[in-house]
Amino acid sequence: MVKEKKPMPKSREWHLVARPEGWPVPDDFALVETEPAAEPGPGRILVRNLYLSVDPYMRGRMNDVKSYVPPYELNRPMDGAAVGRVVASGAEGVAVGDHVLHGLGWREYAELDARQAVVVDPAQADLPAYLGVLGSTGLTAYAGLLRIGELAAGDTVFVSGAAGAVGSQAGQIARLLGASRVIGSAGSDEKVALLTGEYGFDAAFNYKNGPVAEQLRAAAPEGIDLYFDNVGGEHLEAAIGALRRGGRAVLCGAIAQYNSTEPPAGPRNLGLAIGKRLTLRGMIVTDHFDLRPEFVREVGGWLSEGRLRHDETVVTGIENGVEAFLGMLRGDNTGKMVVALGE
Ligand code: NAP
Repeated sequence: MVKEKKPMPKSREWHLVARPEGWPVPDDFALVETEPAAEPGPGRILVRNLYLSVDPYMRGRMNDVKSYVPPYELNRPMDGAAVGRVVASGAEGVAVGDHVLHGLGWREYAELDARQAVVVDPAQADLPAYLGVLGSTGLTAYAGLLRIGELAAGDTVFVSGAAGAVGSQAGQIARLLGASRVIGSAGSDEKVALLTGEYGFDAAFNYKNGPVAEQLRAAAPEGIDLYFDNVGGEHLEAAIGALRRGGRAVLCGAIAQYNSTEPPAGPRNLGLAIGKRLTLRGMIVTDHFDLRPEFVREVGGWLSEGRLRHDETVVTGIENGVEAFLGMLRGDNTGKMVVALGE
């Protein structure tokens, strides 16, 4: 029997067409239609992406500077995490209909080596969760607290960016692992209410309502033991001031300065780290992929027991991908920002 060959689909993909100066603008990007994908060769798969991740680190990749990840090339498709359904497969062990997590986001269809994809189970968790709570952002929170911050039972923990993807998990996981008091900061009163009302933070404040150092002092009059930094700048300075002797800071992100055209003004009080014997330690999640099995077991357990809450903010349509990214930088999201592409 001759099988009728279905034409391979065309895809749309986002290209970076100009390097942003300061805040990115829509004209820095173009949505480009591609030629139809080729039938995947041996060991390769074609994936219809269903959810794309938009992440703060992507802003750094838009600059032409040497970093821990290479910059995006101009007039080429951007990449990033995505989950999708396999629609054609030349790879053993990956079947049409399987769902996979992979690194060729920012496009509707991705053709790749199956070894670069991980099969995920939509029955175990909703697909966007594999980009957030069960993906790299969840692992960042987990590894950051345990390995970099050396969280100890009884610690008072402060988390900035606390209503975002990493921060909302960091605060809740800190509590589940024995922190005695968890404080969060976020950029709106609604987010602050969510932190104390739903995510179990003991105290939270809106960093736009007044100086961070003052608000942190009011929330933690006795000081803090561990700071999980997603923001940098004024937040880091306030945390250095609040950390007790022997305190630790996990330097995870510095989103307050990702769009700055000037070097950050602070922290101006780094000298305090000496007398207080502080440890300020940077991290990159990719160094901690060996923790994944333990992370999935522990976090997966909390999820199924209903002890860990997670939110996703879903923007629909590939044509809104850049707007979702810009919205995430502005703080439009609660939990993980994802772009849903539909079937
Ligand atoms: P996210 O927190 O879900 O989204 C970004 C959030 O940043 C926004 O929702 C916004 O919330 C906040 N924000 C924006 N501008 C700000 C400012 N000037 N001051 C304070 N907050 C600001 O993003 P995410 O993916 O979870 O990432 C959070 C941080 O972790 C980022 O710094 C990111 O680079 C870092 N990260 C690091 C690693 C690693 O391996 N080191 C891995 C993943 C993420 P508000 O409404 O609260 O302002």
